[in-house]
Amino acid sequence: MRAFTYSRPDSVEAAVQAIAGKEAVRFVAGGTNLLDLMKADVMRPAHLVDISRLPLDRIEETDGGGLRLGALARNADTAWDERVRTRYPMLAKAILAGASAQLRNMATNGGNLLQRTRCYYFYDTATPCNKRQPGSGCGALTGINRIHAILGASDHCIAVHPSDLCVALAALDAMVHATGPQGSRAIPFAEFHRLPGDQPERDNTLAADEMVTAIELPPEGSAAHSTYLKTRDRASYAFALVSVAAALEIADGTIRQARLALGGVAHKPWRDPEAEALLVGKPPAAGSFRAAAKHLLRDARGYEHNAFKIDLAESAIVRAMEEAAGGTAP
Ligand code: SF4
Repeated sequence: MRAFTYSRPDSVEAAVQAIAGKEAVRFVAGGTNLLDLMKADVMRPAHLVDISRLPLDRIEETDGGGLRLGALARNADTAWDERVRTRYPMLAKAILAGASAQLRNMATNGGNLLQRTRCYYFYDTATPCNKRQPGSGCGALTGINRIHAILGASDHCIAVHPSDLCVALAALDAMVHATGPQGSRAIPFAEFHRLPGDQPERDNTLAADEMVTAIELPPEGSAAHSTYLKTRDRASYAFALVSVAAALEIADGTIRQARLALGGVAHKPWRDPEAEALLVGKPPAAGSFRAAAKHLLRDARGYEHNAFKIDLAESAIVRAMEEAAGGTAP
């Protein structure tokens, strides 16, 4: 691990100033991903700005009837918050499907959004990786690519975003609040993470000197008919091969609205408005769900070791939708 300097500002404004215009300076809060990356020599910040004690850890009601999750609220505190559990059960379930209890106690909501891919080659500095070192190539394209993307990939990178929390936030149409030297702004969740294109080194649309301050949940949390389903190689502490956040509004035996987000399949949580629209007006039955799943996966492409994910995703979508249609599990 390389030497670095450290500071702990006592306000958001001071933290933003500490990073403004400087390269190789990073915010650190829970540190559950960044410190691993520093130990592996993948990220090499010269200075860390510790924001963990800033007053951004509250979960509060919004004037519009939603919830505002502080960026520094811990994942565990968020999942077990009574308001999150009862009004946004899909979100609570997604958080508890991620990592381990110890990591959830330490990791923050903002950090979860900003965590890096778990592509093996990204962590192995002896191999080429366009995300770690732009222009060096992609070790996964011709290497072991079992955990990689089937949607939205490019010839420059086929990595996936590893978060569970973000998949539920995508399905909920959450809003990310950020602040920086140019002021504060709100970013629709669908626009926060990005596809790799020819710049895989950029995971999201946050500027280098911006800080996530909160995540805003809308008033409607799909509490009656929603779920989060995660398929993975072992029952605990594994990243998703495919995960599904599914939410339905059902009235008189007909789907009025469908929300469907996939994790483990792309560089960002994957949503497809066309596939969701196909479900509106249909009965909440397996045939409707399978047709929507096939449409969502129409452009899916597998690589040498991960083509199984296409069938897995179709099955997971159908099963998650069936679970959601049956009513949110207590
Ligand atoms: Fe790097 Fe992306 Fe290729 Fe993985 S898939 S080696 S992160 S460029």
